[in-house]
Amino acid sequence: MTIGILGGGQLGYMLALAGYPLGLHFRFLDPSPQAPVGRIAHRVTAEYSDHEVLEKFAHGLELVTYEFENVPVEAALFLAKHVPVYPPPEALEAAQDRLSEKNLFRKLGIATTSFAEVSHAGELDAAVKKIGLPAVLKTRRMGYDGKGQWVLRTQEDVDRAKSEFPSAPLLLENFVAFQRELSILAVRGRSGETAFYPLVENHHRGGILRLSIAPAPKLNAALQKAGERAAERIMQQLNYVGVLAIEFFERDGELVANEMAPRVHNSGHWSIEGAATSQFENHLRAVMGLPLGSTATPGVSAMLNLIGDVPEPAGVLAISDAHLHLYGKSLRPGRKVGHVTVRAATMEELDRRLAHLPEFFQRAEFCLPTQPAASAR
Ligand code: AMP
Repeated sequence: MTIGILGGGQLGYMLALAGYPLGLHFRFLDPSPQAPVGRIAHRVTAEYSDHEVLEKFAHGLELVTYEFENVPVEAALFLAKHVPVYPPPEALEAAQDRLSEKNLFRKLGIATTSFAEVSHAGELDAAVKKIGLPAVLKTRRMGYDGKGQWVLRTQEDVDRAKSEFPSAPLLLENFVAFQRELSILAVRGRSGETAFYPLVENHHRGGILRLSIAPAPKLNAALQKAGERAAERIMQQLNYVGVLAIEFFERDGELVANEMAPRVHNSGHWSIEGAATSQFENHLRAVMGLPLGSTATPGVSAMLNLIGDVPEPAGVLAISDAHLHLYGKSLRPGRKVGHVTVRAATMEELDRRLAHLPEFFQRAEFCLPTQPAASAR
């Protein structure tokens, strides 16, 4: 059985690695001839808009899914005429535009930041008046890893944003004074069966995820329930199939939804070693119509992203229960090229193991709990 995947980055790479033991084969479509899945699977290099290629790509596939949410919705809808596509293209559509995403949160009673549309520079003053400062100005589409975002704290920032206004519709959000960032990974099967991973605590630097701790320290049942309820509502509304990620801010014990991703997610990489069934395997189980796997977490895990550079493997592998994942991408500043997951039975043991990571990891950008910049835990 062959599954088609749109996008050929590290998420697709890890989906394939999870699918091989289940006897699955994979065919990827990505416009880049360097897409890392080329190392391990059949990769078609073409634009998502090429209908002739899409038709040929779909031939003989069991189903199509995606590992990248900026795949044109039109491509997913075109493929859906030939082969089942999961998650439904409507979920892609909702997640691609920050405005429709926030409207969906609101409609479903999921708390989110207050926001205002800003279609051109002339609308910014009115939006600032409505939302107040500080605020975050974001492109509605194609933003990721903090790209296409400006924090506005003062009137000078507002004036600068007006003079440098990009030619794309934006959204102004109020700046949330959060205590920490959390995310939930949820999965829904074709039969409507659902499963949830515990909320994860995420640390970003420069808009890029650096460290995830799973389960989030000091997680209480009410918070977990709130995360699950939000995911449940979205999945039901969209008749969702597959893994869904929602990123939240925790503010005064409440979850404020920031954004969602209709795919496996960086803040779920720890689940490869840290959960009974990884997010990758559960995504495949869901789209294949197979029973979902247990999301139980026998201990605690920390996942550190390798951004632009990789450490000497021996130093990482010398740590007990540390696992190195390299995606086979060329090294470039700001690029996610791998990750490390460290696992332990308790948080104290995890902290000890993290402190023993080689010097490479002792830089502030890794946001390790042993470093002063990390939030209090
Ligand atoms: P995003 O692309 O929306 O995930 O934003 C990237 C990161 O910027 C988030 O993980 C936060 O650390 C920060 N951020 C985004 N939006 C806000 C906001 N409204 N208030 C405070 N911080 C934000």
